[in-house]
Amino acid sequence: MLMRTKSSLERSLGLDISRGLEAGEFSVYYQPQWDLFSKSVTGFEALARWHAPGYGQISPSEFIPIAESTGGIKELGEWVLLTACGQAKRWQKIVKQPFLISVNVSGHQLEQKDFASRIITMLSITGLAPEHLELEITESVFLHNLPAILHSLTCLREEGVRFALDDFGMGYSSIHHLSRLPLDCLKIDQSFVRALDSGQTRTVIKAMANLAGELGMRTVVEGVQNESEEFNLWQLGLNQGQGYKLSPPVSAEKAIGFII
Ligand code: C2E
Ligand code: MG
Ligand code: MG
Repeated sequence: MLMRTKSSLERSLGLDISRGLEAGEFSVYYQPQWDLFSKSVTGFEALARWHAPGYGQISPSEFIPIAESTGGIKELGEWVLLTACGQAKRWQKIVKQPFLISVNVSGHQLEQKDFASRIITMLSITGLAPEHLELEITESVFLHNLPAILHSLTCLREEGVRFALDDFGMGYSSIHHLSRLPLDCLKIDQSFVRALDSGQTRTVIKAMANLAGELGMRTVVEGVQNESEEFNLWQLGLNQGQGYKLSPPVSAEKAIGFII
């Protein structure tokens, strides 16, 4: 039996993000986010997909860490941004309702000195208004060149670009971080949804919703899989949901069905 070990995967794919991009092996899928009260779709998260010949579909949880360690994440991240913003602009021409496009960005991208000007150039190429783009960052940015990152975030926020803190509640979460970053949205990690049965978890979710509200941020909860979770999360004060209850990430052709 063929064993696909992590090291062989790294060896064979690690340096090949550029080749994969050139060969057209990457695509962007879109997962809708919706308002937990009105149930209307408010936006989409763009998620990278890699279909490599001989490997099939490779999960982002495999290739993103490889891309981060080899530096390929900068090229990949920029391609995802350009693709997603171009797609959002084309959708806007067809649909009337406003929606946000959210794109994950890595600390390696953010710490590039010209990150802000790259984003502004990309917005002008695609024609997308800055206020329709939300960049999802994680608390791992604190492991990078923080002054440079804060400078880029502040410049972009002044232009109107929005920022979300992804996977909040996991890893290095610190409430202190919330007051240091120019954030518009807190994305609550799906591990909280999986533990909704616990009274303690519900109290923590409610406290996070209150905290975000006090800080003027909206909340998106990840991994909402059924109506009962959706109702409970709304009751606890969260604003928006994302998860299999409405849809997994899908191709652009399918995703537009949620807004027309
Ligand atoms: P993320 O940004 O937190 O994205 C949400 C992940 O949760 C996605 O996994 C999505 O498919 C999954 N998910 C959504 N709803 C549900 C649900 O109801 N149940 C379950 N079990 N899972 C759900 P995916 O697409 O595999 O992406 C994994 C991670 O890879 C992302 O987590 C993000 O950190 C990273 N990633 C993906 N695309 C990019 C990219 O273009 N750039 C960067 N820097 N990171 C990316
Ligand atoms: Mg995300
Ligand atoms: Mg997340």
